[in-house]
Amino acid sequence: MKPLFKLLRYSGLPWVFREWIQRNKVTILMFHDISKEVAHQSFKYLSRNYNLISLQEYQKALTGRNTNLLPKKSMVITFDDGHKQNYEILSVLQEFEVPATIFLCSGIVDSYRHYWFKSNKTGIATDQLKQLSNQERLKVLASAGFRQDQAYQDRQALTSQEIKEMKPFVDFQAHTVFHPILPQCDDEESWFEIAECKGQLEENFQLQINAFAYPNGDYGTREVSYLKNAGYELAVTVDLGLNTIKSNPYRLKRLSSNDTADINELIVKSSGLWAMIINLLKKRGNNKI
Ligand SMILES: [Zn+2]
Repeated sequence: MKPLFKLLRYSGLPWVFREWIQRNKVTILMFHDISKEVAHQSFKYLSRNYNLISLQEYQKALTGRNTNLLPKKSMVITFDDGHKQNYEILSVLQEFEVPATIFLCSGIVDSYRHYWFKSNKTGIATDQLKQLSNQERLKVLASAGFRQDQAYQDRQALTSQEIKEMKPFVDFQAHTVFHPILPQCDDEESWFEIAECKGQLEENFQLQINAFAYPNGDYGTREVSYLKNAGYELAVTVDLGLNTIKSNPYRLKRLSSNDTADINELIVKSSGLWAMIINLLKKRGNNKI
């Protein structure tokens, strides 16, 4: 893939996308667990080529349908899960003035519990486990010795002290309690994961929660209505694309950075060019069926 990203970068298309398509849109970019070096390289580029705004600034513009609140080439930086390495990039976020949002799993941060998808020893591919009902997935994981409420030897997530230190610079928001695939949950489980996460983060970490990221980007109309009932104002998906002030606040589109260490890949993916290629390929695939 590396030569392909290099070719695409130097084709000039990312520049065209940035200056013509992203210019009047809001790009939301997703990261998960990048090192300090990758963060430095990524945010040096992104802060020079986009206007980095916070998710809350975008929320205000969305609510007021006010384009004046948005600079040209607006970009929102987000991180999912709350991985412990996120703490190490705080100085980079400060250096490049990146107003990032980190979506936390309230049942995993400040504990020695593990993210199930990082601890899959079942012999079954993680993508296959995501297809199972929530109860079934937990049963299969349990048969391989994993429990989502068990404390392990090593820590995977941010501690409460780290969250406290980062809080003045980082917007912390919600990403469920244990990171299930929400559409695979029954009603009670889905409501618990959505509502309880907000409650725990507000109570245990004194955070103001109004935004949500769907685990694995999976959601249905039920999740959207639960989010509204639980008091969330907006939610991000992994539906590929860009946003405007007319976007549905509970179905905001995001581009994935793929946590890449390859600057060419980052340039191509953050421009929306890659998303367009994938969407076109999907369309062609669908037409064939
Ligand atoms: Zn996640």
